[in-house]
Amino acid sequence: MKHRALAILEQLIAIQSVNPHYGDGAAGEAEVARYIERLCERAGLSVMRQPVIEGRDNVIVRLNTPRPGPLLMLEAHMDTVSLGSMQTPLVPVYRDGRLYGRGACDTKGSLAAMLAAMETFAREPEALGCDVALCATVDEEHAFRGPLKLLELGLPVAAAVVGEPTGLRIVAAHKGCARFAVHVRGKAAHSSVPHEGVNAIVRMAKVIGFLEDTIAPELASVRDELCGPATLSIGTIAGGKQINIVPERCTIEVDRRIVSGENPGEVLAALERRLAAWGGEHGVKLEVEPLLLDWALGTPQDDPIVRAASDTARRLALPADVCGETYGSNASKYQGIGGIPSIVYGPGSIAQAHSREEWVSVAEVEAAAAFYMELAREYRG
Ligand SMILES: [Zn+2]
Repeated sequence: MKHRALAILEQLIAIQSVNPHYGDGAAGEAEVARYIERLCERAGLSVMRQPVIEGRDNVIVRLNTPRPGPLLMLEAHMDTVSLGSMQTPLVPVYRDGRLYGRGACDTKGSLAAMLAAMETFAREPEALGCDVALCATVDEEHAFRGPLKLLELGLPVAAAVVGEPTGLRIVAAHKGCARFAVHVRGKAAHSSVPHEGVNAIVRMAKVIGFLEDTIAPELASVRDELCGPATLSIGTIAGGKQINIVPERCTIEVDRRIVSGENPGEVLAALERRLAAWGGEHGVKLEVEPLLLDWALGTPQDDPIVRAASDTARRLALPADVCGETYGSNASKYQGIGGIPSIVYGPGSIAQAHSREEWVSVAEVEAAAAFYMELAREYRG
């Protein structure tokens, strides 16, 4: 018989929920929210909505155990990236033990497994070791407004499991980032009299030298046990209009990856101070523009949620090691801002997320449903 999580996943894939950030034709999360609401109400669960952005609500489903216990949050986002060039993105297709469809892996596979677990909990709440809240959030694929709003509710969450494709590995750490642009101003002049101008590209070359030769090497000692060192990468450069004009502007964009223990805002402020001081010393006028700040995840390996996850995985003969990842997730917002110990766990590989042919392993979806169920029976805070 088909696992309940797969039946739910088929229906979730068929509902288009592209993040509106992707432009025309993107439906947003409204229909998925309605689907979750109906499914959970039918199961006798109490459902609440939290408006986040016009027409885009977080959905919160609560189930309390008969005896008081800590609250475990199961969280997954409802939005997907654009349909892209997938042939039939909204038609769930089984092939070779895989289920294809947009969002199958990122992250409707996790969401379906969590919903199947909630239906089971609704039938046997006495088997739970803790209270459970399933939180389905909006806007993960763009600006994380769903998870940030969810934190405002102030639910007494003791620990969170964020559903993202980890290939059923227990992820307790991942990097975050402090992205920024650096603008250098020069003075335009005709290239036949370059000494009358100030070349912004040449000045930027010195800024790049400072970032690469002084700042970047310092990061080797800023490390996380599971994720490795913090890093810095200069991703874009733009400057100059034409060959016979001394350029008056040059801009680079820099991606500074942060590790747990670092605060993205503080990292950016410190970089800004360093660059300003260096610019002052070297007569380079520069300006730092913040682009994206995101928290890193670093839940201690001896935290009860990590231990319970490892024990659960071991009992189910699933991978029980605790890992770090390089990509980000909502978990770092819950931990970094909300102080909620969080892990990331779900079926599917990040390699298939956002890809031209998105799919998830059928066996992994089933195993993830078993994992979420067992974990909620096991976890006691
Ligand atoms: Zn995702």
